[in-house]
This record gives sequence, C-alpha cells and structure tokens, in this order.
Amino acid sequence: MAKKNLKRDVVIIGSGPAGLTAAIYSARANLRPLLIDAPADAHKQTAPGGQLMITTDVENYPGFSEGIQGPELMAEFRQQAERFGTEFLEAWINEVDLAERPFTLYTDEQTIEAETLIIASGASAKWLGIPGEAKIPAGFGGNGVSACATCDGPLPHFRNKTIVVVGGGDTAMEEATFLTRYAGRVVVVHRRDKLRASKIMQEKAFNNQKIDFIWNTEVEEIVGTDHEGVTGVKLHDLKTGEKRIFPCAGVFIAIGHKPNTDLFKGQLDMDEVGYLKTSGHSTSTNIPGVFACGDVQDSVYRQAVTAAGTGCMSAIDAERFLDHLPVAMPTGEEVTIEGEHISPDHRAIITADGHLIPNSPEIMAQEDCE
Ligand code: NDP
Repeated sequence: MAKKNLKRDVVIIGSGPAGLTAAIYSARANLRPLLIDAPADAHKQTAPGGQLMITTDVENYPGFSEGIQGPELMAEFRQQAERFGTEFLEAWINEVDLAERPFTLYTDEQTIEAETLIIASGASAKWLGIPGEAKIPAGFGGNGVSACATCDGPLPHFRNKTIVVVGGGDTAMEEATFLTRYAGRVVVVHRRDKLRASKIMQEKAFNNQKIDFIWNTEVEEIVGTDHEGVTGVKLHDLKTGEKRIFPCAGVFIAIGHKPNTDLFKGQLDMDEVGYLKTSGHSTSTNIPGVFACGDVQDSVYRQAVTAAGTGCMSAIDAERFLDHLPVAMPTGEEVTIEGEHISPDHRAIITADGHLIPNSPEIMAQEDCE
C-alpha cells in the first residue's frame, strides 16, 4: 500500500509539557502544527502525555495552588492544544532525514515533510542492566521489577511486602515515599553514603517510619521464581565487599532517566549522555529549522514547568524561522530560512551562495578604502 504523504510547516515530536506547549503556541500562531506521539507501550516506556502521566500529585506546577494530578494536568494541556487546531498523529517514527529541508519523517504508514521540526521526545527511565531485571520471560520485569511506582505500586503483589528501591535522587525518594502507601516496608539501596535528592525529599523519606536505607551498596542481581516473581536481591556492600541475598517481593529502579534521542544519532549534536545540544540563546539544534525543547535537551532542570517554557521558546523560534527572521544557533551565529549566516558579532552576513556582506559601518568603511 502506498504511504500517505503529509507536508506541514511545523511538526512536533512528543506530547509531554514541552511538545504540547509548542503545539499551543504554534497553533495560536496559525501554523497548524502536526504533533506526533508514540503509542502507549510499557516495554518501550512510551506514554502519550509523557512522564507526568505516571505521576500522582504535582504540587509545583504554577497556577494550581492545591496541586493537580499529573494525568489531569496533561489532559488540560492536550485540550488547550486541540482547541487552537493542533493535529495529532499517533505513530512510531522509524527514521528521520534531516539532511535537507523540508525534513522527512518516516512512519509505517506516512511520509511526513516538515519545514521546521520541534523535538520534544522527552526521556525514559534508566535501568541497571543486571541479571533478573529484563522483562519476562528473560527476567522479572513486569513480575516484581518496575521503574514506575505510580504505575505498578498499587498492584496486589506488593501489598504489605518488603520492597527495594534503588537510587539516591529525588525520583528514588518520591518512589519510596509513594510505595509506603502499599508496602509493609520500603528499603532504599544506594551506592553511596549520601543522597543526591533535595533536602525536602530526603527529610520526607527519613521521617517516614516505613522507609529504611542500606548505604554504600549495589544491587548485583534480582532473584526469584517464575511462579512467585521477585523473591530477593543480591546485594554487594562496597565498603566491606560482603555479598548477601536480601529478601523482598519487588524492586523499583529509580536511578534517573536518559533522553529519547536514538532516532537523531549521527544527525544532531548531542552530549555524551545523548541530550540534544541547543543554542544557549534559542532552542536551535545544529541544524537550522530543527529545534529541541523539554527533557530531551535539558539535563539540569528537568521540570514540567521548564519543559513547558522551552516548548514555548521552540514554537516562537520555529515561527521566527518561518517568517524569514534569524534564529540563534549553537555556534553563536544566526541563521535564516534562506541559509544566510550572520556572524556571532553581527559584523558580517554570509549569504546562502557564500558572499560576504559587511554588516557594520567599520567594515563597510574599510571596504570603501580598498
Ligand atoms: P538523579 O540523576 O538526580 O539521581 C539518580 C540517582 O541514581 C543518584 O543517586 C545516583 O547515584 C543513582 N544511580 C545512577 N546510576 C546508578 C547505577 N548504575 N547504580 C546505582 N545507582 C545509580 O535522577 P532523578 O531521576 O532522581 O532526578 C532527576 C531530576 O528530576 C532532578 O533534577 C530531580 O530534582 C528532578 N525530580 C524532581 C522531583 C520532584 O521535585 N518532585 C521528583 C523526581 C525528580 P549517585 O548519587 O551516586 O550518582
């Protein structure tokens, strides 16, 4: 069957706070954005709406003085994007070609041409890569091993049992605190003797009678049976070298996230972890017309509100670019849709066909003397 060919001025990948904010802004600017989000898949860790769909209380998103549930907040974002005419497409993108504009995106059923592309594909939970962690049948993933307490914590399997949480950051503290609603005891296993989590989250966990800590220890293996699922973890005390089996009914891995950028490898500049590099002065990537926002380009703040903020910036950047205005690139240059490059000091313009045009009175005066 022939593939459907779509052409759009603005294509957005991802439907978390960044992607949907980019959609709201570009739809209101009459750019008729197409937003592509991946179908929900537990194995690939995709959830339309992004990570807030697997969060409960969101207490720090401004504008909600009493807090709001993550899924409820994302439903509001989506309705707002729909209200201004965002077009939604649920599909896996198999490949992108960013070699020239319009950029081309390939799904199973469509070929999509995009004059500008806003990447808001977010980040996914990291795994330890130890025996027993993989999805069933290779391991106990889905049978006692999880990376999402809000998704799996309420399962009957964990009721009143001992649960291990691995990690020492805010995610680990949040998961551990949440799991005490269901578990009999939650034990946080951390590889150092200090937490990375914020003070407030540490205090919450330290003050919770149901949470204990095992310090300076790594989980080397998750053990269990097909019938019972997880029955314990093999711990390695990094100080004494001692190894032992610690009995538990579940393991929640909470060691951070990695950006979803595999699709762009070899085409867009990334840091060593895989976060997309953007200009400090805009959301431009190294390819003019490709912008990135939210967790896919933010290894520092990673908050819903900062994701929404950069989503807004991406939409404005794409709009400027389509309006033939220059956008700031990571090199410090500014580039227009025609391919003109303005030097970082704004003293020279190089046209698309390579001509240098002075952009400062001094350079012009020098040229007049020659
Ligand atoms: P972080 O990177 O902050 O923490 C990851 C933790 O996992 C660290 O303690 C790290 O140990 C540990 N770790 C990493 N790799 C391994 C490994 N291979 N084996 C064992 N332990 C490992 O990630 P988070 O997801 O916790 O937080 C990310 C960001 O999101 C932060 O900015 C955080 O503030 C924010 N956040 C905010 C929340 C809120 O405000 N409600 C909730 C959740 C996250 P080590 O310390 O030794 O490096």
